Amino acid sequence: MSFSSLGLAPELADAVAGIGYEQPTAIQAAAIPAALRGADVLGSAQTGSGKTAAFALPMVHALISGKRERRGLYGLVLVPTRELATQVGEAIRKLVQRLPQPVKVSIAFGGVSINPQMMALRGGTDIMVATPGRLLDLVEHNALKLDATSVLVLDEADKLLDMGFSEEIASILAKLPARRQNLFFSATFPPAVQALASAMLREPVRIEASNEEAHEPDILQRAIEVDAPRRTQLLRQLIKQEKWSRVLVFVATKYASEHVADKLRRNGVRAEAFHGDFSQGARTEVLADFKSGRLQVLVATDVAARGIDIARLPVVVNYDLPRSPADYTHRIGRTGRAGESGVAVSFVSADTEAHFRLIENRQQKRVPRERIAGFEPVQQAAAPVASDPNGGIKGKRKSKKDKLREAAAQGKSDG
Ligand code: AMP
Repeated sequence: MSFSSLGLAPELADAVAGIGYEQPTAIQAAAIPAALRGADVLGSAQTGSGKTAAFALPMVHALISGKRERRGLYGLVLVPTRELATQVGEAIRKLVQRLPQPVKVSIAFGGVSINPQMMALRGGTDIMVATPGRLLDLVEHNALKLDATSVLVLDEADKLLDMGFSEEIASILAKLPARRQNLFFSATFPPAVQALASAMLREPVRIEASNEEAHEPDILQRAIEVDAPRRTQLLRQLIKQEKWSRVLVFVATKYASEHVADKLRRNGVRAEAFHGDFSQGARTEVLADFKSGRLQVLVATDVAARGIDIARLPVVVNYDLPRSPADYTHRIGRTGRAGESGVAVSFVSADTEAHFRLIENRQQKRVPRERIAGFEPVQQAAAPVASDPNGGIKGKRKSKKDKLREAAAQGKSDG
């Protein structure tokens, strides 16, 4: 199958070939014809599936084929983080850079001065990729109008809601024309995401081509049993023994991120922390160093690492387990991208075993437990909740929330 057979304009199919995409991925093959028809799309897809081109190419096609009915912003892409805004915006710019007609792609996110973003919008824009809060700021400053927007894309809708953007999304929806196309992508579909999708979408084409192609066969999941205090040492040994060239290590807290990176550096590993307290400039620099190979290990929190795209990342390590199964899916999705294979290693201790089971249950997949010689665990799980002296069992079983809280607290105390 080729891109031109999906109905894309020949110059666009050429541009895609020019950046080295030989064949559409599964999500592209399913979503592009549907979006070109003008249908709403509900896609179950992760980063790595090729979803960016899946929603961007039909928009660009409409723009260069003179299908635009109204003047003003044509396509709005909402993303949860600044990293994703940059990544998606740059990916779309790459798609349009060789086209005969110019297509203007703008990027906006919070946490930096709004003025340059306002300046960049002078003279209008065709496609806007933005985080929801900053987008509303730009609208309030009259830097951008949404009344001509024909296509709305929600990218990583689950993360948008996780990060508390539901009110902003509601405000944005209220400002958009009622008659528009909606393309909705999410890696997971908890009830809040389903509710938003059914409120927004009209008879959507459902696409679940997602992960099987880009992920399932390509990510080897491993779980290594180790006592929490020995994880850094084990990590060092694995990096050396298994000759990991580049590793993204996930931890639960900013403190752990600094602490683990520091310990690795002291042992001669080129490691750096990566968390939400970094300035935008520092994040960009650290990411560039990691991408270029100057850094071997990035020790990141979920928030900081969300959505970052690093080509050919061979290994992801869950030093601390993620809080939710959804985060686990996101984390391991950083490896084995676009058809390449990868390894996702999780450190599991007696205290986090139950939590890891929950993650396994959710993905309906067991991961065999391994032990590494010299790092066999000796610690027991913490004692269960004490019984009530009156006879009844106080608090009964721990709720899921309690377990998650404990797992998170454990990450904090020993990070
Ligand atoms: P995405 O899921 O959109 O973040 O894309 C993941 C990666 O796959 C990016 O690095 C894209 O450049 C790449 N990619 C997307 N579509 C294709 C394709 N049809 N062929 C090869 N690589 C692709």
